[in-house]
Amino acid sequence: MVQVLDSTLREGEQTAGVFFDSHIKLTIAELLDQVGIDIIEAGHPRVSQDIYSAVKLIAQGNFNAVIGAHARSLRQDVDLALDCGVGFLGIFFSVSQDRLNDVFKKKLSVAIDQISQVIAYAREQNPALIIRYTPEDGVRSKFQNVVEASVAAVQAGADIISVADTTGYMLPGTSRSMYDFVSKLKDALADRDVSPKIAVHCHNDRGFALANALDAYRAGAEIIDASVLGLGERAGIVDLAQLLSALHLDFGEDNAWDFKRLPELYRTVSQYSGVPIPVNFPLIGAHAFTHCAGVHTHAAAKNPLHYQSISPEFLGREMDVALDHMSGLSSVKWAFEKIGAEVDDDLALRVLEVVKSIGQRGRTVGLEELPQIIKLCRMPAEGEVQTGTTSPV
Ligand SMILES: [Zn+2]
Repeated sequence: MVQVLDSTLREGEQTAGVFFDSHIKLTIAELLDQVGIDIIEAGHPRVSQDIYSAVKLIAQGNFNAVIGAHARSLRQDVDLALDCGVGFLGIFFSVSQDRLNDVFKKKLSVAIDQISQVIAYAREQNPALIIRYTPEDGVRSKFQNVVEASVAAVQAGADIISVADTTGYMLPGTSRSMYDFVSKLKDALADRDVSPKIAVHCHNDRGFALANALDAYRAGAEIIDASVLGLGERAGIVDLAQLLSALHLDFGEDNAWDFKRLPELYRTVSQYSGVPIPVNFPLIGAHAFTHCAGVHTHAAAKNPLHYQSISPEFLGREMDVALDHMSGLSSVKWAFEKIGAEVDDDLALRVLEVVKSIGQRGRTVGLEELPQIIKLCRMPAEGEVQTGTTSPV
């Protein structure tokens, strides 16, 4: 069964301008736990005292999810993370040749020694700890470097190797295929008699994060990273709701995910991150299940699936119809039914005219306005005051 790691509290806080206070982090962690997330990556304790305290607070909470922390491949990072009491530790160190030469100024063998020693140290401190090693930017690194570092990491005690598309470089169906990379890595590791779990961390720089994550999943990745609203560095990572719904609806994963908790989780994260939920955001956006054009509404009113591939009810949401310049008679009739108004066809046409007129000015008519518009349209047309030479609307 696939596992999902949510990194809203760690990667998500790497969104420019985003910081969650500790009590908000706790609230978000509680909501993630209610959704049924397997691993909650709570932060990188070495970054600041506040993050350290928040990770500790969450790690000591009563969660079904495993609580994780992030650490560089350094003992002091590991010590702080372990001090928080986490059950999962992600250790990262890039073994790309460019990074080794330009940033770390280390030979591969020296880097691998450092990675192994830090992982062995973490393992010694806590035999039950779940340890993930991430060769950062793994997909653009020399493949053999990734294999050597991963084998050494597993031999030192790592349980999971994470395939990181740190820059959103991969694209399904091309030579940069995540499916091919994960398959090749699994084979190479098996050839060396190690069989860690494979995780995948996909950035969304070009909008392919989810497609790449699902490609990795098809190739056998067992843990997939995501975050609420896809928050993260630059363009962020895989969006959690989109990932969960694809795994459940399209790939038949039957984890006990409570999809109806997602809208509240997203509202909370949006409110405290200051990142608005775009109205057209899949599944969660205000308009994700709103039909607009009259033709669509006409068909959707008979059967929503004519213009929806999924039903909003699984998220605890409902289909909606926009009342604006695109509306048709079926749109206003749908709205009348919604508010329990008895309206004959003549009146419906007059209401539609008003709705279209308001819509052309760039505004959607709310259901709460409708009774007043109906009242207006019920007023007799006779006796209208001629106010000028222009035609009345
Ligand atoms: Zn990342």
